[in-house]
Amino acid sequence: ASLFAQVEMAPRDPILGLNEQFNADTNPNKVNLGVGVYTDEQGKLPLLKCVAAAEKQLLEAPKARGYLPIDGIAAYDKAVQSLVFGADHAAVKGGRIATAQAIGGTGGLKLGADFLKRLNPDAQVLISDPSWENHRALFESAGFTVGTYPYYDAAAKGINVDGMLSTLKAAPAGTIVLLHACCHNPTGYDLTEAQWNEVIAITKERGLVPFLDMAYQGFGNGIAEDGAVVIKFLDAGLSFFVSTSFSKSFSLYGERVGALSIVSETADESARVLSQLKRVIRTNYSNPPTHGAQVVATVLTTPALRQLWEEELAQMRDRIKLMRTALVDNLKAAGITQDLGFITRQKGMFSYSGLNAAQMQRLRSEFGIYGVDSGRICVAALNDGNIKAVSQAIAKVSQ
Ligand code: PLP
Repeated sequence: ASLFAQVEMAPRDPILGLNEQFNADTNPNKVNLGVGVYTDEQGKLPLLKCVAAAEKQLLEAPKARGYLPIDGIAAYDKAVQSLVFGADHAAVKGGRIATAQAIGGTGGLKLGADFLKRLNPDAQVLISDPSWENHRALFESAGFTVGTYPYYDAAAKGINVDGMLSTLKAAPAGTIVLLHACCHNPTGYDLTEAQWNEVIAITKERGLVPFLDMAYQGFGNGIAEDGAVVIKFLDAGLSFFVSTSFSKSFSLYGERVGALSIVSETADESARVLSQLKRVIRTNYSNPPTHGAQVVATVLTTPALRQLWEEELAQMRDRIKLMRTALVDNLKAAGITQDLGFITRQKGMFSYSGLNAAQMQRLRSEFGIYGVDSGRICVAALNDGNIKAVSQAIAKVSQ
């Protein structure tokens, strides 16, 4: 028999599979609300001006490409740490945080998972129900058993906070709890400040291991506002993990720019942690690529470019908010009478629309509107040119 005779066909990735289906659709009015990508008012993926300017600067003084250090560009790691934790925070100044460049937010999560597997192989992992599809797969592929804590409350159009907290209270010490720092994917519902305080108190009391996934910093309420959750964990004196992604906030999806930060109790501990983290990196891909991190480091550390980035990020955030309000108005105009307040309460790129799988399939087959069967739609892909048609189609399948 041939070597690969036993190899079975793997199921298609649910979201990337949807993309393939979208690309093959010949409907001229098709709209892709499936994948989590921000497109501008013209429906185009933006190249941020701050990114183009940084690239121009880099091209004007081209450099040879040697291997980077295992943990990436030092100036990048420092800039990320300042952005995520604040340059002046005692934990940063005291050398208690190890930050390593990673291959996107996904890479940061995988490094953290591999590190944790070596540290505490029998730990349980809890992710939100529902969560980004890849969370479960990533931690399972690192060898963990992955369970869930309640999150989405369909009837309340919000979060099942009591369910979440009581599950965390019952979790054994050492349980790794994956938390979305802001702009929860897929639901769009974020915890309030008071609810975060409760999560932190339980985490401390129970000895849980928080792992914050920050893939949308700046898409919720602002860079500092969204980052406040991380500072809360820091101020609580916890040891924890943060994965950072710049895919969305710099519109650098294809460059794979991210990071993993690990907060320890002492600088000495942090040095040992970093040394082990480097081993994880070394045996996965040796060291990370140059270009994307160089661009992000240049933008973050050049005041004029930094300001431009903050403005461009604010434009993306504001346009998404505008589309949420416009979606509510257009749905009402199309005849929907139910309370739509949840759409503007949600944060970030996504809206859990409340539509069921059959309705989402009808949107695809009858109208060429592609969302995820869970009811998740990408609000960041709406624009003045498609929002009316999308709203009318949603009203039709809702009848
Ligand atoms: N975490 C969440 C919640 C995400 O939604 C995503 C991307 O969609 C990621 C992580 C991964 O980001 P990246 O594309 O940088 O790997």
